[in-house]
Amino acid sequence: MKAAILTIGDELLIGQVLDTNSSWIAQQLNVLGIKVEEKISIGDDASAIKEVLTRLLARIDFVFITGGLGPTKDDLTKHTLTDYFNDHLVLHEASLENVKRIFKAFGREINEVNRQQAFQPLEAQVFVNRNGTASGMGFEKGGKWVFSMPGVPFEMKPMLLEQMLPFLSQRFSFPQIIHRTICTQGIGESFVAEKIADIETALPSYIKLAYLPSVGQLKLRLSGYGQASEFEIENFVNLIVARIPEYVFALEDRTLLEVLADLLRARGKTVATAESCTGGYIAHLLTSLPGSSGYYLGGLVAYSNIMKIKSLGVQQKDLDAFGAVSQQVVEQMARGILLSTGADYGIASSGIAGPDGGSVVKPVGTVWIAVVGKEGIFSKEFKFGDNRERNIVRAALTALSILRRKFLLNH
Ligand code: AMP
Ligand code: MG
Repeated sequence: MKAAILTIGDELLIGQVLDTNSSWIAQQLNVLGIKVEEKISIGDDASAIKEVLTRLLARIDFVFITGGLGPTKDDLTKHTLTDYFNDHLVLHEASLENVKRIFKAFGREINEVNRQQAFQPLEAQVFVNRNGTASGMGFEKGGKWVFSMPGVPFEMKPMLLEQMLPFLSQRFSFPQIIHRTICTQGIGESFVAEKIADIETALPSYIKLAYLPSVGQLKLRLSGYGQASEFEIENFVNLIVARIPEYVFALEDRTLLEVLADLLRARGKTVATAESCTGGYIAHLLTSLPGSSGYYLGGLVAYSNIMKIKSLGVQQKDLDAFGAVSQQVVEQMARGILLSTGADYGIASSGIAGPDGGSVVKPVGTVWIAVVGKEGIFSKEFKFGDNRERNIVRAALTALSILRRKFLLNH
């Protein structure tokens, strides 16, 4: 089954809104084994919409459209599609009830513009929007389907997952695809590729390996099509993991933080942070999941030397002798926060995030990270890149990885 994704909206073309809908939809379709062959963005323009649809329907089974369903004049997707499929708009009772329900929740009566949103094409399959006033639509033509969804991601996502995809699954049988994900931290794509080159070469044509990098993390996804068996894919997963065991933190699609949070909870341990170059980003990550108060006590951003000295007990003489970005200082920061909070683990960062402040010995991207616990202290110098934002994210994820690997796994 082949699909295309069509995102509609003038705002997408002038670069005001980033089209995140199409990549999200592509991910969902890929999981189902529906191959996305094209992603197209166009403006709120009736003739462009019709032209693209005609071209796509010549070779594509399913078209997923987002955008242009709002109540204002610039949104014309509903009228254009109705026209394109030779249909006409009639009042759709369930949509009207939904619009009323939403307005009632805000304590307001609906006006004529809002009532217009409840008009839907007679022949289309209508999908009532539980998070908004614009219903979704499905049009069938010669066994092919065109789905239209609102542009607002928070309305579009549940509509696709809870309504349209189940609707399609009832009518079509999609090829079974087996996905397995290996989540890694601290190793780059090219290094992994080098370490597993022979395994990659040995993969049969019906098992694909995808590298899915994001800042500081890399997911490897094995997808088995057709004749692939769970057993065979499991085998390849094991072979790959055996080459890079120290970097793997999950064998399912999870974040490092989720994994770490589970470990901290299971061990009943608490963490505190003393951050310099990461400026609170480690604390931000540690507080980003619900229930984080169960393991995160708190922290300090000790950016200046004076804060490091006064709040964490860092020695002036060590700052003078080794500089703030040094093993001595980062270890004292970690110990300082451990002592003042009574946490089980203290994490500290000190580095040069950039773009300024680098030197020959300590170039931009040099970061010292320390983690301390009853078991002892671990500290290490890292050389990240020259991009400030990425350095901060990488340093924070690296710090969390060290806590997971060097401290929590050994119990
Ligand atoms: P619409 O359904 O065209 O009224 O879209 C309403 C809002 O949804 C827009 O103003 C954007 O903020 C957002 N939006 C529309 N299309 C997209 C897209 N492709 N990706 C992310 N956000 C979008
Ligand atoms: Mg719009």
